[in-house]
Amino acid sequence: MLNQWGTRRVMVLTDTNVAGLYSQHFEALSSAFECRTLVISAGEESKNMEQLARIWERMLDFGMDKSDTLILFGGGTICDLGGFAAATFKRGVHVVNCPTTLLAMIDAAVGGKTSINFEHIKNCIGVVRQPDYILPANPAFLHTLADSELRSGLGEMIKYALIASPELFEQLCGMKTLAAEAIQPEWIEWCVAYKQKVVALDPEDHKERHILNFGHTFGHALESYYLEIDQPVTHGEAVAIGMVYESQLSMQYAGLSEIQFYRIKDLICRFYDVPEMSEDLMKQLKPYLLQDKKNSGGEINFTLLREIGNATINNFIQIF
Ligand code: NAD
Repeated sequence: MLNQWGTRRVMVLTDTNVAGLYSQHFEALSSAFECRTLVISAGEESKNMEQLARIWERMLDFGMDKSDTLILFGGGTICDLGGFAAATFKRGVHVVNCPTTLLAMIDAAVGGKTSINFEHIKNCIGVVRQPDYILPANPAFLHTLADSELRSGLGEMIKYALIASPELFEQLCGMKTLAAEAIQPEWIEWCVAYKQKVVALDPEDHKERHILNFGHTFGHALESYYLEIDQPVTHGEAVAIGMVYESQLSMQYAGLSEIQFYRIKDLICRFYDVPEMSEDLMKQLKPYLLQDKKNSGGEINFTLLREIGNATINNFIQIF
């Protein structure tokens, strides 16, 4: 594949944790290509202008051109930051995603959204550019993930179940404790295939792709708020809490039954601490919710559930 693209230089972008555990994975490349590795600090804090400039500098110094390839070896931080660097460097070099977290396997590595954070706003600057290739998810990577990171990925998996698969929801309800062995490879494959199907319908996120936003309107607001007060939560955890709040709205505005609402809440509360949707918390979240990219005329755009496995998009609601 890299040969077909005329690639001569390959840069592997990874983070300190992944490099420490899996650096041997790409060693073979150096016999076939000029190869360099750039290791950045692990974690969300690296999704910034400084790290972006560092990647561009290293690509320039390496002499990379449009036929060359950046391999993004890590979680969603690496996919988002590296994807943006690759999309903008000389208007785009080839990208191969090799996801190593559950969240990246089923979500961040698929669909082409790339970004960095800016001025405390998550994913504020970015572009959509599809990766040229995504390596099939390798569940072996999950065995070294911290519990909190496994839980973060589970948040997105629960989302896919809620918007599109009552069967997956039932299977997740049967999972009593969270461990790498409990995550069935076929669940991962189904989530990837489902996301790819939705992205193919609407790559630029104008309509059908909005279905993937369930839990994310509150989720992004929570993630930004907790980041600003220096108590960061993981993406999937924020989405999980957001799904409880948006399921509550779904009861009010989309016909979700009370029985299904409590089933959703029970499953999510089994794995996450969900704070009360208090007046004080809503006051804190208000500025973030109001600047959501999907809003229109002061109304906030939610994806809601009619029932488990059946979602409705573009529900504009005045919640303040
Ligand atoms: P991450 O990439 O920061 O990884 C989380 C932690 O796990 C890091 O410390 C990392 O070093 C470590 N890690 C990675 N793989 C490992 C492994 N196999 N074993 C042990 N440790 C490992 O975070 P994430 O949860 O993968 O992704 C979160 C990011 O993804 C957020 O910035 C979020 O905004 C973004 N995101 C993007 C999209 C998209 O469509 N582009 C979708 C969802 C989330």
